[in-house]
Amino acid sequence: MMGGQVPILVLKEGTERETGKTAQKKNIEVAKTIADAVRTTLGPKGMDKMLVDSIGDIVITNDGATILKEIDAAHPTAKMMVEVAKSQDTEVGDGTTTAVVLAGELLKSAEELLDQNVHPTVITNGYHLAAEKALELLPELGIKVDGDEILKEIAITAMTGKNVGDAKEYLADLAVKAVKAVAEEINGKSSVDVDNNVKVEKKQGGGITDTELIDGIVLDKEKVHPRMPKRIENAKIALINTGFEVKKTEISAKIQISDPSQIQAFLDQESEEIKKMVEKVREVGANVVLCQKAIDDLAQHYMAKYGIYAVRRIKKSDMEKLAKATGAKIVTNLDDLSPEDLGYAKIVEERKIGEDNMTFIMGCKNPKSVSILIRGGTEHVVDEVERALHDALKVVSVAMEDGIAVPGGGATEIELAMKLREYAPSVGGREQLAIEKFADSLEIIPRTLAENAGMDAIDIMMKLKAEHQKSNRHAGVNVFDGKIANMIEKKVIEPLRVKKQAIESATEAATMILRIDDVIAAKGGEKEKAQGAPAGAGMMPGGGMGGMGMGGGMPPY
Ligand code: ADP
Ligand code: MG
Repeated sequence: MMGGQVPILVLKEGTERETGKTAQKKNIEVAKTIADAVRTTLGPKGMDKMLVDSIGDIVITNDGATILKEIDAAHPTAKMMVEVAKSQDTEVGDGTTTAVVLAGELLKSAEELLDQNVHPTVITNGYHLAAEKALELLPELGIKVDGDEILKEIAITAMTGKNVGDAKEYLADLAVKAVKAVAEEINGKSSVDVDNNVKVEKKQGGGITDTELIDGIVLDKEKVHPRMPKRIENAKIALINTGFEVKKTEISAKIQISDPSQIQAFLDQESEEIKKMVEKVREVGANVVLCQKAIDDLAQHYMAKYGIYAVRRIKKSDMEKLAKATGAKIVTNLDDLSPEDLGYAKIVEERKIGEDNMTFIMGCKNPKSVSILIRGGTEHVVDEVERALHDALKVVSVAMEDGIAVPGGGATEIELAMKLREYAPSVGGREQLAIEKFADSLEIIPRTLAENAGMDAIDIMMKLKAEHQKSNRHAGVNVFDGKIANMIEKKVIEPLRVKKQAIESATEAATMILRIDDVIAAKGGEKEKAQGAPAGAGMMPGGGMGGMGMGGGMPPY
């Protein structure tokens, strides 16, 4: 205890601080709230959420990552849970709800241990051991991914629950084709980079099955001038990231003219400069110009005259994709442009899609570059198809890379739980308790799938466990008829990596949250923000912690 009468102020006045059990309890409470918020969306029978942002735009989805991104959580622990979903989404594209629900359940189980005075360090140790063991066991539960059929099944499983009607087969087929088109063999192993090689564009109109795979790149841009050719064969493409216009000086300059003819001379000089730019492009042999910046009216006129197809104001990220696809070099200074910088595509053409004109660059020099043009009746449909396809493309690519998949419908989680309970006694001590709790926590997945399908969860869990005791390793919840079934036979299959990542990120988040015993929050800051965010603030239990910053040297969120 402090000896002196004068209290020593270590923290700034107004700083809020919570320590020990109070801090732990609150953090766990927040994590559970976040997990509960997405729990009802898990699985094919999961419900949707309607999210309304501050300006009234709505999103209807049951995609865990999307929901959590939209709710704009204010509490630091809530943000950590959102990070779980985000990292799951970027790493493997699917299993976001699973990861968050699992993290919540791990914390709930930990709370029970904390109440029995098990130290957080023991719990985190036990959880880490359990996760390690689970990851070691996972491949043994898997089946080989061989052929397109199983890839399609994986894509369909990832899309179940998404509101894309009966177009799942169609979209799954498209996803498999797209991934196979861009897959590369590196040292005998498949490597797929869908983020960089499959460009997804969307255009409202038509039906979902009008969505098409395009061999090349689609730009949501029309040619700049109506008199330019609509279609160019054997396109020689210049990628330019400077504008076809006379550069405005940074400083404002005044030009004094004493004779009217000088005005003309001045203007003539400007147009001469623009003409020279277009001449340069033509000289090197380009018949297509894809420009990141503006193209002046006069430049458009000359380009049209020379039969050049031009598009302006292309996004930087698209320029990079175009460079990769066509083999062109992005040129900043037109004077440097040479024939070697040009890229190649068999066809560049403008097509009318829905209400708008789009540019198609097909048959590129690099064949490993494709686009998917999403169609659908309304904006909401198009957006949901985009989310579904994103998941499908990712799962197909990771399944192809790893070559191994596991049964879904909770089968994998039940089997892992059983195996972990067998493993726990070999560790012994109090860690054994934590490992057993970890096993219990995994069961939240089949239990939630059953609950969300309106089934009797207790009964189903009992039957499931009995099946697994009888070595029916693929037995899972068939949410469509309320019975237990072999998930591989039912074609409910997920990539191994989705499960692996979910276990890893859930464990990481749960143990990180458990280790915090001190929350020191600076005054103000996030608090105002929390009040301004209706959805996020509404979700917080107690609300009072809305403005807490994280202690322990973490950067402020
Ligand atoms: P996540 O965001 O975690 O991917 P989902 O709502 O997509 O959440 O649900 C995924 C869960 O649903 C997985 O456990 C998966 O195995 C299960 N699942 C998917 N399709 C089926 C099905 N037809 N029958 C039973 N379970 C299924
Ligand atoms: Mg999913």
